[in-house]
Amino acid sequence: MNTLSTNQYIKPVTTIRNFEGNLAIGGCDLVSLADKYGTPLYVIDEATIRSICHDYKTAFEKYPKMRMMYASKALCTSAVTAILNEEGFGFDTVSAGEIYTVHNAGVDMGKVLFNGNNKSYDELSLALDFGVGRFSVDNFFELALLNEIASVKGKVADILLRITPGIECHTHEYIQTGHLDSKFGFDLTQVDEAIDLILNEYKNIKLHGLHAHIGSQIFETGIYPDEIEILAKEISRIDRKYGLKLDEINIGGGLGVKYTEEDVPPSTFEIGELIVNKLHDVIEKYNIPEPTVFIEPGRSVISTSGVTLYTVGSSKQVPHGTKYVAIDGGMADNPRPSMYQAKYCAEIANNKDLAKDEMVTLAGRFCESGDILIGNVVLPELAEGDVLCVYNTGAYNYSMASNYNRVQKPAMVLVRDSQSEVIVKRESLEDLVAHDIIPDRLKK
Ligand SMILES: *Cc1c(COP(=O)(O)O)cnc(C)c1O
Repeated sequence: MNTLSTNQYIKPVTTIRNFEGNLAIGGCDLVSLADKYGTPLYVIDEATIRSICHDYKTAFEKYPKMRMMYASKALCTSAVTAILNEEGFGFDTVSAGEIYTVHNAGVDMGKVLFNGNNKSYDELSLALDFGVGRFSVDNFFELALLNEIASVKGKVADILLRITPGIECHTHEYIQTGHLDSKFGFDLTQVDEAIDLILNEYKNIKLHGLHAHIGSQIFETGIYPDEIEILAKEISRIDRKYGLKLDEINIGGGLGVKYTEEDVPPSTFEIGELIVNKLHDVIEKYNIPEPTVFIEPGRSVISTSGVTLYTVGSSKQVPHGTKYVAIDGGMADNPRPSMYQAKYCAEIANNKDLAKDEMVTLAGRFCESGDILIGNVVLPELAEGDVLCVYNTGAYNYSMASNYNRVQKPAMVLVRDSQSEVIVKRESLEDLVAHDIIPDRLKK
């Protein structure tokens, strides 16, 4: 199929230059949004999210037992959850906070999966109380703990076993997870010991299938078929050895997006076709029942829908060196460039003489030399007050944001059909001290 899928675009699908010469997304003028709500500002385009969901549904329509589980950690807010819930996605969660948010947004908790390599007693307990559909159990400690909590509650926990399939992908080392020496999951040689425990000792655990997740920002298409091969083979081996018919596999997330022109992520349609064909192959080859298949995309579902608006402030020309232009945000609202050298594209949102350009380094406002949002980028000559739009910030920006330098986290607005709605309020100065306590003896 040669139609592009939405994850192959850098910008939200509704991005245009309007009659005033300003950038607009979702029919909303970005300069007006910056005026109205202030900057930095996260802007999320609803049409792009829905277009991506449509891509996923189209890509997998030939496999009715495919379940799309949005990986909430990419961006977990109540409104985004509500949109994806409407689109029929389930949710992959990794903390009590995400479970609570998803529950609060009215999601059927049977469609929620709980992942993580060190879930606490309280989190497992809360997940059981909320009726979370599946636990992806990561290790022996968790298996014992979950069984214990479930037995106290008189419940049965429905689980998948997270395994490490031993597949490496060529992404940043910090976002690789499927290689053998990973902190996540059971090694394949430990699976039988886990199954023995489940069958003989852990009466409050019911095993449904296997889970693997290879990594993130994946561009290689061959990884998913390789992974399905390993999971299916393991399922048929378990059937032969134990007579246990596991009928669920979770192939994780990881599909990449296009942050810059150099990035060439595969199309969702192509990945879908490869996965569906491979599933049909292994079902026949290993003679296993058609499994329910979970896929847990996070980044590729939400990244492209988001942009961040900043206002340009000071600038500094190092004599015979770099020209730094500073914006009013940076590593606290988008830690990815300083954390793993992530690259982004930016454009000036206001009407500017686009002919006069220069090479600059966009510096954040935080007190770290590493707080560089984009190094060596050619942009029209920037001046104080210009509004800068950074693309593809929907995933792992707000969800990784901090209050470093005691700066308030930005607001987030949802745009659609020329309307803008605040979906996350900007933090206030009062919010910043709301959890502080001054011991009485220190009070003046
Ligand atoms: C992070 C993660 C995902 C989502 O990864 P993306 O790269 O955002 O698609 C899915 N499953 C698991 C287990 C994860 O840890």
